Amino acid sequence: MNRIAVYPGSFDPVTNGHLDIIHRALEFVDQLVIAILVNPEKQALFTVKERMEMIRNVVPENHRIQIDQFHGLLVEYARKKNARVIIRGLRAVSDFDYEFQMALMNRRLEAQIETVFLVPAEQYSYVSSRLVKEICALGGTVRGLVPEDVEKRMQRKFKGSSVQQFKSSK
Ligand code: ADP
Repeated sequence: MNRIAVYPGSFDPVTNGHLDIIHRALEFVDQLVIAILVNPEKQALFTVKERMEMIRNVVPENHRIQIDQFHGLLVEYARKKNARVIIRGLRAVSDFDYEFQMALMNRRLEAQIETVFLVPAEQYSYVSSRLVKEICALGGTVRGLVPEDVEKRMQRKFKGSSVQQFKSSK
C-alpha cells in the first residue's frame, strides 16, 4: 500500500516546528506532499515561490517528498494527489478548536480522507510563523526556531521597514 499524505499550510515562513512535523510524518507515510495554500486574501510576508524555496532548502525533494502549492478546497486537492491522509500539527489547546472543526468539515466533504494530528517536540510547541515574524520585525533573534536561511531572509525583508525605523528613532 502506498500511503500518500498532504501537509497543508501557509508556511509563511517554514519554521522548525513545521520541519518537526514533516519528519514525524515521514516515519509512517510513504509519500508526503507539502502543500502551500495560496490565499490571495491573506497578506503574506513571502511570495509562494520564496516559501517553496525556503522549504526546498531544508527538505530536499525526492521520491517521497514533494513541495507544491494549491488553492481552493483542500480535500479536492488531496483527492487529485491520491492522498488519503491530511497531516496537521497540534501545538496547544488554542489550535484544537479550529483544527477540530476543519477535520470534521473535511470528513463531511470527503469521508475517505482522514486527518492525522501530530504533536511537535516540546521546544517547538510555542513556535508559529506569525510569532517568529513579529520577533524578527522587532529586531529579536529567532535562531534555533527557524532554519538559518529563513532567519536571514526575514531580516532582509524587515531591514528598513517602518518597524526598524521606529526602533532606531527611539
Ligand atoms: P502557522 O499556524 O504557524 O501560521 P501554518 O498555517 O503554515 O502555520 O500551519 C500549517 C500546519 O502546521 C498547521 O496544522 C499548524 O498547526 C502546524 N504548525 C505550525 N507551526 C507548528 C509548530 N510549531 N508545531 C507543530 N505544528 C505546527
